Amino acid sequence: MSDCLFCKIAAGEIPSNKVYEDALCYAFYDIAPQAPTHFLVIPKVHIGSVSEIDGTNSGVVAHIFEVIAKLAGDLGLTSYRVVSNIGEQAGQSVLHLHFHVLSGRDMTWPPG
Ligand code: 5GP
Ligand code: ZN
Repeated sequence: MSDCLFCKIAAGEIPSNKVYEDALCYAFYDIAPQAPTHFLVIPKVHIGSVSEIDGTNSGVVAHIFEVIAKLAGDLGLTSYRVVSNIGEQAGQSVLHLHFHVLSGRDMTWPPG
């Protein structure tokens, strides 16, 4: 999508601190980290949020979770949280599917 911040980051048109990239997804550190380790994993294809996942695009989501597991292992993360906010009330501010990976501090439940 031409006017999407994360599409531009995935395409390298806007700089980011890259963690990982392959043909299907892009991972980069969050600009406003909420934990000592906080990165985002996004599909290169534009998907608006979890609510737009269906049989035509769920393969990339499965792939992203494989990537998250690999990156967490590579980074030595033994405990971490994966979060995706959907919609305004849940706190979604960028309308391109992304999974937050947060680690390195005690976390509370339920989330605020
Ligand atoms: P959301 O609020 O939609 O769940 O998460 C969006 C995340 O993207 C936020 O944690 C925010 O800090 C991050 N973010 C927004 N703009 C940028 C940017 O230009 N670069 C990076 N690296 N992160 C961004
Ligand atoms: Zn996008």
